[in-house]
Amino acid sequence: METYDVAIIGAGMSGIAAGIRSAHFGKKVCIFERHYAPGGLNSFYALDGRKYDVGLHAMTNFVKPGVKAAPLNRILRQLRIRREDLNLSEQKRSRIAFRGTDLKFSNDFGLLESEIDREFPDQVDGFRKLVEDVQGFDDSRIDYPYESARERVQARISNPLLEDMIFCPLMYYGSSTEEDMDFGQFVVMFKSIFLEGFARPFDGIRGIIKLLLKRYREVGGIRRMNTGIAKIEVVEGRAERLILDSGEEVKANIVLSSAGLPETDALCSEKWLGNSESEPGKLSFTETISTFGKSMKEFGWGEDAIVFFNGAKRFRYRSPESPVDLESGVICIPENFDYAEGEFSEGVVRVTCLANYRLWKSYPEDRYRNEKESWRPKIWEAAKSFMPETELAYPNECIAFDMFTPTTVERYSWRMRGAIYGSARKYRTGVTPISNLFLCGTDQGFLGIVGSMLSGIAMANAHALR
Ligand SMILES: Cc1cc2nc3c(=O)[nH]c(=O)nc-3n(C[C@H](O)[C@H](O)[C@H](O)COP(=O)(O)OP(=O)(O)OC[C@H]3O[C@@H](n4cnc5c(N)ncnc54)[C@H](O)[C@@H]3O)c2cc1C
Repeated sequence: METYDVAIIGAGMSGIAAGIRSAHFGKKVCIFERHYAPGGLNSFYALDGRKYDVGLHAMTNFVKPGVKAAPLNRILRQLRIRREDLNLSEQKRSRIAFRGTDLKFSNDFGLLESEIDREFPDQVDGFRKLVEDVQGFDDSRIDYPYESARERVQARISNPLLEDMIFCPLMYYGSSTEEDMDFGQFVVMFKSIFLEGFARPFDGIRGIIKLLLKRYREVGGIRRMNTGIAKIEVVEGRAERLILDSGEEVKANIVLSSAGLPETDALCSEKWLGNSESEPGKLSFTETISTFGKSMKEFGWGEDAIVFFNGAKRFRYRSPESPVDLESGVICIPENFDYAEGEFSEGVVRVTCLANYRLWKSYPEDRYRNEKESWRPKIWEAAKSFMPETELAYPNECIAFDMFTPTTVERYSWRMRGAIYGSARKYRTGVTPISNLFLCGTDQGFLGIVGSMLSGIAMANAHALR
């Protein structure tokens, strides 16, 4: 039976980063991935000859090269990857758009501050104090106790509209809990989106994944694709053997799982999660990807990289009663980053909205397809009302289209309920009751491209390289 020093479940961002770090220090490492494609929630695919990213809107946490302690630069140092190889371009600007009130922001934090001063002059001092709270919070500690972010923000901001406008991007890009979030997670998201910022590689996520896999190969890592872990055989509190989907068995001294908390527990022959913890995350999303025959600049949409919109009186971040919540969402226009390379010959608009997993899951195939068709124009109209007036006729001018629902995410990532941000409960130390089984990635509590890579590195350092 093959024996590894470290077996990693999942070739997503956290799994690959953990693999590079472990193999770099001479460990015999194998990443087992059930999908044929690497990248997990941030993978890529082709449809009718066109390239698509699964998830990428923007990479958060963008900072300039010299900021040593910043997550992005820490990752690059630990993985020994050259920054220029990421080929990142900064956003032009983004926007939080609520009915009648807009706040623009960019990678220059001063823009957001001045926008708040313009729209909410009586709140700007409170906002500055909130920024001090964020900067004073030590998010490198992993054992901080839960605090309600809503309560912490309300202590500084008395205007509910501004409160909701601050929460909307942070929740959409990284909250696994409805309506409120842990203040520690709020701090991580606030820094990564507002104090640091957005960037994107010209060619999407594939360049970053290829770069990571090249690095992994160079340090001797082994990768087995189309090879899921079907079961973790637990004997006397240890992960004794991994049983692959094919029935083959392998052994590993350390197992790092990026499959998720309830998902990893479900693989174990002895269950260790209590009933409330084994509940999968409640938040799922749908995304439409519309491609047009010319650049969005030509349609007058050439400014905003990301728009977080909300039309409801109060911003609601929860699983909706209907298949899709049209009140709020995120619009991403990938061409609106400051690319050094050429122009985009086609325009792409991605729109993400909250979605109800249970309903999408209940539809038989024909109904599922019809529901997608019927939600497509509604999602477009909801998003369009927050964008500059345009002559664009939809769907007539749309030359290609794709859409995913919570069941698509579940089908391709094996994440229960298609919960992109995982379980409400996070295991921040990565430690499980199984002595040699550790979590990394989303359910260790770090999300997004940079967060999940940081998690893979931290968990490899703490548990595989002890
Ligand atoms: C639509 C969408 C948009 C997003 N937009 C952004 C964005 O703009 N910016 C950003 O920073 N982040 C974004 N994210 C979030 C980001 O993609 C994730 O937070 C991050 O990729 C999670 O990485 P991970 O390694 O923790 O988990 P995953 O990517 O889920 O990796 C886990 C891997 O484990 C594999 N696996 C599961 N079970 C098994 C098993 N039993 N055996 C073997 N393999 C298994 C899965 O196939 C998967 O490849 C987005 C995600 C989605 C879905």
